[in-house]
Amino acid sequence: MPARSVFRDDHELFREQVRRFVADEILPHYATWERDGITPRALWKRAGDAGLLNCTLPTTFGAGGDFGHAAIVIEELARASCLGIGFSIHSDMVSSYIHRYGSDAQRERWLPSMAAGERIGAIAMTEPGTGSDLKAIRTRARPDGDHYILSGQKTFITNGANAGLVVVLASTEPDLGARGLSLFCVEEGLPGFSKGPVLEKIGQHAQDTCELFFDDVVLPADCLLGELNQGFSHVANELTQERLCIALRAGASIEALLDETVAYTRERKTFGRRVFDYQNTRFQLADARSQSRMLRVFLDDCLARHMDGELDEVDAAIAKLNATEMHGRLLDALLQLHGGYGYMSEYAIGRAWVDARAMRIYGGSSEIMREIIARSL
Ligand SMILES: Cc1cc2nc3c(=O)[nH]c(=O)nc-3n(C[C@H](O)[C@H](O)[C@H](O)COP(=O)(O)OP(=O)(O)OC[C@H]3O[C@@H](n4cnc5c(N)ncnc54)[C@H](O)[C@@H]3O)c2cc1C
Repeated sequence: MPARSVFRDDHELFREQVRRFVADEILPHYATWERDGITPRALWKRAGDAGLLNCTLPTTFGAGGDFGHAAIVIEELARASCLGIGFSIHSDMVSSYIHRYGSDAQRERWLPSMAAGERIGAIAMTEPGTGSDLKAIRTRARPDGDHYILSGQKTFITNGANAGLVVVLASTEPDLGARGLSLFCVEEGLPGFSKGPVLEKIGQHAQDTCELFFDDVVLPADCLLGELNQGFSHVANELTQERLCIALRAGASIEALLDETVAYTRERKTFGRRVFDYQNTRFQLADARSQSRMLRVFLDDCLARHMDGELDEVDAAIAKLNATEMHGRLLDALLQLHGGYGYMSEYAIGRAWVDARAMRIYGGSSEIMREIIARSL
C-alpha cells in the first residue's frame, strides 16, 4: 500500500507503540475475554498508562494528541481483529462529549479518571422500543427543584457492565420531540441506577453490552451535559465522528484480513496446487484489493478533513455505509477462501466475519445512512 500522507512521523511512532500494546496486552488474553463476555477493567488502566485513551484531548484530560492518534488506536485494534474492545466509544464519544459540551467542573470531575482508564465511559441512547428513531425515546428526566428525576431503560449499551459513567439521552420536554431531549452524566452507584447482565450477542463477545435501568434516579442539576433540550443536536454533531470511527475500523479490518487471506491461500494446497493459484481465488483477491484500495483513498480523505474540522455529516454517512457494507461482502468472500478453517473461531477471519455484522447496524444503520445521503441529493 502506498504511504498514507494523512499521518505524520509522530503518528507512525505512536502506531508502533499501539501495535506493541495490542500484541502484549490484548492478543494473549482476547480469547478468554471473549469467553467471559467482558474485558477486565485492569486493561483499561494499562491502556490509560500507555496513552491509548482520550487521545485527542489536551494532556490535563487525555493523551494530548489529535484525531490521527485516535484513528491509529481504532485501526490497530481492527487490524488485530479485536473488534470487541470498547476504547473508541469511551474516548471518541463519551470523553469527546464531555470535553465539547461539559462545563470546566464537569471536565475536571470526569475526564482525568477517564484518561487514566480508572473510569470507563458508555453512551446510552438506544431503548428497547426505539434505536434509529431517537426522538421517540421514552426515558424521562423530570425537573424536581434543583434535581432531575431520571426514569427509563436503555439497551445494547457498549461498555455497559464496566461503565463508571454513562452519558444518557433522555426526554426533558416530551411534547417537543427531538427539541425536548437532553444529555445527562450518570455515575455508577447512584441509587436507582442498575445494570442487567451482559447480553448474549452473536459476535463482539469481548464487549460488555448491557441493558441499563433508571428507577427514579435523583440527578443533581450539574449532571446535565450541554444545553437543556439540545441533546439531539449535540448527538447529531458527534455522530459524524462516531461514523468515521466505525468506517476506519472496517477499512483497517478489510486490509488486514486480505493480507492474511493472501498468506493463507499461498500456504494451503488442494489437488496439488496452492489455493492462491486458482483463477477464482486470484480474482476474488484482486477484487478485494481494488475495492479496499478505493475505500482507503476516501477514508483517508475523510480522516484528513475531520482532522481539519471539515468533515460533514453526509460524507461521514457515505464512509460508514460503504466501508461497513464492503466489510461484510469482502469478509464473506475471504472466509470462503479459507474453507472450513474460516468457520473456526480460532481463525481471525471467522471471528471478524461475525463481529463485522453489527457495524452495519450500530452508529446508525445502513438504511439510515442512505436516508442521510438521499436527503442531500
Ligand atoms: C453490538 C451493538 C452495540 C451497540 N452499542 C450501543 C451503544 O453503546 N449505545 C447505544 O445507544 N446504542 C447501541 N447500540 C444500538 C444501535 O445503535 C441500534 O441497534 C441501532 O441504532 C438500530 O436501532 P434498533 O436496533 O432499534 O433498530 P430499529 O431502529 O428498530 O430498526 C430496524 C430496521 O429498520 C430499519 N429502519 C429504521 N428506520 C428506518 C427508516 N427511516 N428507513 C428505512 N429503514 C429504517 C433499520 O435500518 C433496521 O434495518 C448497539 C447495537 C449493537 C448491535
